[in-house]
Amino acid sequence: MKQLTGSCLCNNIEVSLPDDFDYMGNCHCSECRKLSGSDYAAVGGIDSDKFQLVRGQEYLHIYHKSDETDITFCKNCSSTLFSRKKSSKKHNIRLGILDNPPRQKPSFHIFTKSKAPWSEITDNLPQFEKQPD
Ligand SMILES: [Zn+2]
Ligand SMILES: [Zn+2]
Repeated sequence: MKQLTGSCLCNNIEVSLPDDFDYMGNCHCSECRKLSGSDYAAVGGIDSDKFQLVRGQEYLHIYHKSDETDITFCKNCSSTLFSRKKSSKKHNIRLGILDNPPRQKPSFHIFTKSKAPWSEITDNLPQFEKQPD
């Protein structure tokens, strides 16, 4: 299995994961929009035990969003790197941090009911107003 690496803007943090996401999609929820400062967040999910921190432990800043979700930033450059879902034991990786191309592409849009009013979805991927079952 090919390994992917990801890093933050200042390059102090590097992560590694197999090129084998369980899902990959674009989230338009208002929280992802605020968190990323973008119209939507492109994320890929992978089992937490397949995710590795290569370097930069001392730069990790963890925001406890809820009992279910921790979000990790770089303390130095503030890049949003990934979130950890506790009950499903998944890491949701922000695809923008990847340094090499994954074999998969985002295959859906979720939370389109709260998408940015100026943002237009121009592809034919399935859209879900909230989270699909
Ligand atoms: Zn950084
Ligand atoms: Zn979201």
